[in-house]
Amino acid sequence: MHVPLIIIGGGLSGLAAALRFARFIPDVLILEQHSRLGGLNSYYYRNKRLFETGLHAITNYAEPKDKKAPLNRLLRQLKIKRTELDLHEQNHSEIRFENRESLRFSNDFSQFCKEIELKFPSSYPGFTELVSLVNAYDPFAPAVFISAKKVIQDKLQNDLLTEMLLCPLMYYGSSVENDMDLGQFVIMFRAIFQEGMFRPGGTIKDLLDLLENHYKAYGGEIRTKSSVKQIISENKKVLGVVLESGEEIRCDYMLSTAGSEETFELLGTKSGLKTLPRLGFVETIFEVPPVTKLKKADNNTIIFFNTAAKFNYSSPREAVNFDSGVICMPQNFQNLAPLPYKEIRTTHLASYEHWKKLAEDKPAYELLKDETARHSLSVAEKILGNFAENIVYRDTFTPLTIERFTAKKEGAIYGNPSKIKDGNIGYENLFLAGTDQGFLGIVGAMLSGVSIVNQHILPRI
Ligand SMILES: Cc1cc2nc3c(=O)[nH]c(=O)nc-3n(C[C@H](O)[C@H](O)[C@H](O)COP(=O)(O)OP(=O)(O)OC[C@H]3O[C@@H](n4cnc5c(N)ncnc54)[C@H](O)[C@@H]3O)c2cc1C
Repeated sequence: MHVPLIIIGGGLSGLAAALRFARFIPDVLILEQHSRLGGLNSYYYRNKRLFETGLHAITNYAEPKDKKAPLNRLLRQLKIKRTELDLHEQNHSEIRFENRESLRFSNDFSQFCKEIELKFPSSYPGFTELVSLVNAYDPFAPAVFISAKKVIQDKLQNDLLTEMLLCPLMYYGSSVENDMDLGQFVIMFRAIFQEGMFRPGGTIKDLLDLLENHYKAYGGEIRTKSSVKQIISENKKVLGVVLESGEEIRCDYMLSTAGSEETFELLGTKSGLKTLPRLGFVETIFEVPPVTKLKKADNNTIIFFNTAAKFNYSSPREAVNFDSGVICMPQNFQNLAPLPYKEIRTTHLASYEHWKKLAEDKPAYELLKDETARHSLSVAEKILGNFAENIVYRDTFTPLTIERFTAKKEGAIYGNPSKIKDGNIGYENLFLAGTDQGFLGIVGAMLSGVSIVNQHILPRI
């Protein structure tokens, strides 16, 4: 078999790339190792109910009139109408550094600015300078690593505010410990604070189905349960792939969304990039009946919290660091149709190594999962009030779960700490898109797939 383009991975970057290409040349082939599409953002069924993995909120909200906004550019490139997505904006979210300060934000950035002016008046002039810097900065221009933390501290002269601003941006998009590249900071600051968060009506399955249906309508092909075992190459040119089944498929071009190190391994070589430490996470879903009213913050969409004296975004020494994390309540978006359930999802930094040691000892692994869920619950209850007695279902996933279902090394959601911004990995006809290109989150991953197809593949075909 021979196709013009093979895409490794049916996550959001792979799907978007394939859809963009199929608009012009339909013979694209997506190869996905898992039985479902979506990658990090997928779903599973328990007790006949669909549970989402990944989706808290989608960043980069934009009004239809803002033609240049990433979300609207993406939809135009994919020829998807906004009405097909049924967008719902967040209610409001919060950054809470317990016993010290809290900052509320929504999709109205001016309110966030007022909040900072009120609570950190002496840092406010520096904050406005920081916003000007963010507005003027080109995060896509090639550049060496610049410490965002240092730039923010210089502007704000306030460690607490610096940490509070970094907390959500790191949790939603940093593969680097305790700092961010300035370009990545700018991307995430715009995506979360200036543009804001939303989710589509329905579930992630509806979004994936929509993308799949558009793609198939152009004639594109998807093969699930088709793990790529090897990429065949000759003189820095790829010729095709060999699947786990032994089948060989040839192509003119290839796009890999499997991650940089993972792709180099398929090529039988090494990247030489800095790969460690990769950051792992645990997430627990608590389901309660829809009538359950939380004593505090019942209406919040997302709470980014920290209870320690210093915010520490790094791979923990222990299995999980409960000092900080994210609490997400996915029903708290404006005008969402009432759901038959209510979810409280908690996320914390976790150590892959710690969980990996228990991989062969199922009872010990399950016990640690149980302890993790209980501990996370107690942390969430301090913020939301008690809800333990209302829980009707609970599930926890660990870095091992993510590794198993997405083939992402060490289950690192945000991939390798070194990013390859132009997607060029030194092969004539093989390019990288998605997480390890440095575009994170759903809109980021999708734009990454589209931009690599536009820049490197369509012009050559
Ligand atoms: C718990 C969690 C919460 C998140 N919350 C949010 C959120 O609220 N908002 C947001 O915007 N983003 C969120 N994200 C991040 C978002 O899901 C990702 O940034 C985005 O989906 C990455 O897409 P991708 O296509 O680059 O990578 P992936 O989703 O990892 O896709 C890569 C695909 O390649 C496949 N693959 C790998 N190796 C092979 C192989 N050898 N052969 C065939 N297929 C292969 C994998 O199975 C996978 O499907 C979250 C992620 C997680 C896990």
